[in-house]
Amino acid sequence: MNICMVGAGYVGLVSAACFSEFGWTVTCVDKDQSRLDELMAGKSPIYEPGLDDLLERNMKAGRLIFTDKLGPAAAGADVVLLAVGTPMRRGDGYADLSYVFAAVEEIAPHLEGFTVIVTKSTVPVGTSREIERRLKAIRPDADVAICSNPEFLREGSAIQDFMHPDRVLVGTDSERARELMGRLYKPLALRNAPVMFVGRESAELAKYASNSFLALKISFINEVADLCEEVGADVQEVASAMGKDRRIGEKFLHPGPGYGGSCFPKDVSALIRTAREAKSPISIIEQVERVNHERKIAMTGRIEQAAGGSVRDKTIAILGVTFKPNTDDMRDAPSLVIVPMLQERGATVKAYDPEGRKQGEPLLPGLVWCESAMEAVEDADVLVVVTEWNEFRALDLKAVKAKMRGAALVDLRNVFPPELAIDAGYSYTGIGRGHISA
Ligand code: NAD
Repeated sequence: MNICMVGAGYVGLVSAACFSEFGWTVTCVDKDQSRLDELMAGKSPIYEPGLDDLLERNMKAGRLIFTDKLGPAAAGADVVLLAVGTPMRRGDGYADLSYVFAAVEEIAPHLEGFTVIVTKSTVPVGTSREIERRLKAIRPDADVAICSNPEFLREGSAIQDFMHPDRVLVGTDSERARELMGRLYKPLALRNAPVMFVGRESAELAKYASNSFLALKISFINEVADLCEEVGADVQEVASAMGKDRRIGEKFLHPGPGYGGSCFPKDVSALIRTAREAKSPISIIEQVERVNHERKIAMTGRIEQAAGGSVRDKTIAILGVTFKPNTDDMRDAPSLVIVPMLQERGATVKAYDPEGRKQGEPLLPGLVWCESAMEAVEDADVLVVVTEWNEFRALDLKAVKAKMRGAALVDLRNVFPPELAIDAGYSYTGIGRGHISA
């Protein structure tokens, strides 16, 4: 089977590498020349555990090819998967579909034979229908079926998620497309991954509903964490007790500085707009968006409090700036709100992140970048954990404290047991555990 993957980003690149691992021939197209240069030199332009090996193996085997020529790649393909970005549109919060439609318009004149065009990008309900309309306007003779195949992988464990999905979701109303999509995912079906065929609108909406539900879980536990602080409960204990209930589940019950990343904020926003437009607003999700926005701002207040009421002329050391660990992705990371607010209020902010510097540097002007956690904490008044990279858990808190000027630790991810922090001489502020000092 010949596959054309449009977009070599977090989803396109991982999916292209995994499909080629199945044995399919994949031509992956991107417009970003620097991204292509890195790929052709055998380097991954993004940080994703395990991806370098997968790319190397399949490029060597000739099953994975990179190009900037979309037309010829689409012409020879049985399946064209669109994995371009669908960011939040500036001003109105809708999903920006301009990259999707531009790719469709570029593909249209080149299509040959029966081709299945698949949106792997997260697109609002009705987009498959609109793609079909636009394609037919350019190529009324094209023999195409438009499918929705939303991707559920998570950055940081993307390959594992792609290879062992909870389900593969395909929205189609074409029997021929169903047969081809079944063949495309057969290697996963053989491993017992359920491949679900549903209507296109259901597939499109299921992706937004899933991400919004997960965002809701996060906002819920964040508000429960605030309540815990008022009533003397420990949110870690509450979340753990809740999570043992299989109707609830343990995942996404980790309190923190609010969700970020390339998906939740924009997908929550897009679902709100879709629902309002359909005159069926989802008020609970509107509240999730509000709670999450306020949360990031509130975290800055928490740091100020830990600094003694003001961060003016204080040095704040930040550990972790990416939106979550095991990725270099900075999109909508809580650090992008917290760091500038601290700077505005007169603090010098230093940071260390194992992978975030390349993307973070242009987004966080004035931030002092360090090469290690120990360098970042030197002479700092307050230490703040923003992203829970595993290497931070292994830090010797006594040694860290010895390097600092101050003694405040604000742990926005509850990485450190409070007893350990107190023992190291810190006054400790976690999430949903209250402020604890010796
Ligand atoms: P990304 O920004 O990392 O990658 C998009 C790529 O598409 C870029 O490299 C860009 O240069 C390329 N591109 C844009 N227009 C193009 C064109 N006409 N031809 C060729 N290449 C083009 O985005 P991403 O994070 O991979 O997300 C892609 C989609 O997948 C989005 O809709 C997103 O919501 C969805 N998604 C993302 C994740 C995730 O964790 N990142 C998970 C599930 C779903």
